[in-house]
Amino acid sequence: MLLSKVFKASLRSGVRLQSSTATASAAASSAGHASSLGFSFEMTDQQKEFQQLARKFAREEMLPVAAAYDRSGEYPFPIIKKAWELGLVNGHIPQDYGGMGLSIFDSCLITEELAYACTGMQTAIEANSLGQMPVILAGSDAQKRKYLGRMTEEPLMCAYCVTEPGAGSDVASLKTRAVKMGDEYVVNGQKMWITNGGKANWYFLLARTNADPKCPASKAFTGFIVEADTPGIQIGRKEMNMGQRCSDTRGITFEDVRIPKENVLIAEGAGFKIAMGAFDNTRPPVAAGATGLAQRALDEATNYALERKTFGRVIAEHQAVSFILAEMAMKVELARMAYQRSAWEVDQGRRNTYYASIAKAFAGDIANQVATDAVQVFGGNGFNSEYPVEKLMRDAKIYQIYEGTAQIQRVIIAREHLGRFKK
Ligand SMILES: Cc1cc2nc3c(=O)[nH]c(=O)nc-3n(C[C@H](O)[C@H](O)[C@H](O)COP(=O)(O)OP(=O)(O)OC[C@H]3O[C@@H](n4cnc5c(N)ncnc54)[C@H](O)[C@@H]3O)c2cc1C
Repeated sequence: MLLSKVFKASLRSGVRLQSSTATASAAASSAGHASSLGFSFEMTDQQKEFQQLARKFAREEMLPVAAAYDRSGEYPFPIIKKAWELGLVNGHIPQDYGGMGLSIFDSCLITEELAYACTGMQTAIEANSLGQMPVILAGSDAQKRKYLGRMTEEPLMCAYCVTEPGAGSDVASLKTRAVKMGDEYVVNGQKMWITNGGKANWYFLLARTNADPKCPASKAFTGFIVEADTPGIQIGRKEMNMGQRCSDTRGITFEDVRIPKENVLIAEGAGFKIAMGAFDNTRPPVAAGATGLAQRALDEATNYALERKTFGRVIAEHQAVSFILAEMAMKVELARMAYQRSAWEVDQGRRNTYYASIAKAFAGDIANQVATDAVQVFGGNGFNSEYPVEKLMRDAKIYQIYEGTAQIQRVIIAREHLGRFKK
């Protein structure tokens, strides 16, 4: 069943799309129970359907071809197109612009399932969310209709264009300049590590509009929507990365690129907050992706441990191995709780920066630990590309780097935590 059909069926039955607790309480009131169920781990029937649809697609369509795409590095457009047709891409685009308006929580459930099969493909899909989020949060009605609307009409990609060769964590030191000339801005500069860089139909671009080095970051930068075919845009070669190899990562050069002033998000000077604000919505899904990879590593290791025999018994019966599996299981469960909490917080309309960074940092770290443990459980076979876990170990590393490194997440968590103590 298409995701949109699940969605439409629930609309007909009067169930709103929202995160589990709120929806569960709506269901409880309609069943004549007390007005609120309070805390609940139970997913709604609709959320279970989303999850099942994504799981089936991931395991039947993505997983069997993941190793081949990893070897070739080819962009998985046929898979993305099928996922788009099922409604598994761009789910969070608001209904007013042709999307399904899924909550971050519901989107995360889908992301975890897709990541289980291949995080290279999942990252390519997720980069759309990252590129779209500034427009969803800060775009005008006309901008949303034009740029989000077209993505619900055909399977198009977009990208978030912020990092530069000289500035990643330190966003405030970006050098790309946009200078206002009449009704246009003229952009010059270089971006680096842009996911979907060579496949995007349009970019969210962050550029400096105030040349004064003393101008605070919160006023010095402007966010733009840029058509990818604008003259002056030069797309670099596809980068050969350690993992997630079918995802398209590139440098992009902007040389006298003219952007109409209608494509400014909010106003000149508002870009830094828009670009950073998107992360509260996109870090929960990144954490969900890392959790999906970790769950896969745990499942692969468990199945292997129940088959491989040494010293006359399956290795799962050696306590040392079963304890590795137990540690892996603990980490996967906690990462899932962390991403779900951070998604639920932002869906309630609350500032979730603290929870989003905890989820992103924790899930990114445990994906690496759990994938490394899976290689260990596989022994020599784990080190070999005929088996699935070496890919998981390579793919996991990026979760500690993109969308804010493991260290930057700790900087944010410490700032948020200490801020609660300082009066
Ligand atoms: C595959 C891939 C896809 C990506 N996709 C995108 C994308 O779509 N769009 C986009 O804009 N960017 C993207 N990025 C860029 C990514 O977000 C950056 O690489 C990341 O933010 C780190 O920046 P950097 O590489 O410049 O490292 P640096 O900022 O130079 O950091 C180097 C090291 O120093 C540490 N460090 C830096 N500052 C501090 C500090 N204050 N305290 C403690 N430690 C610190 C970092 O944690 C890191 O370990 C992608 C990167 C990769 C590799």
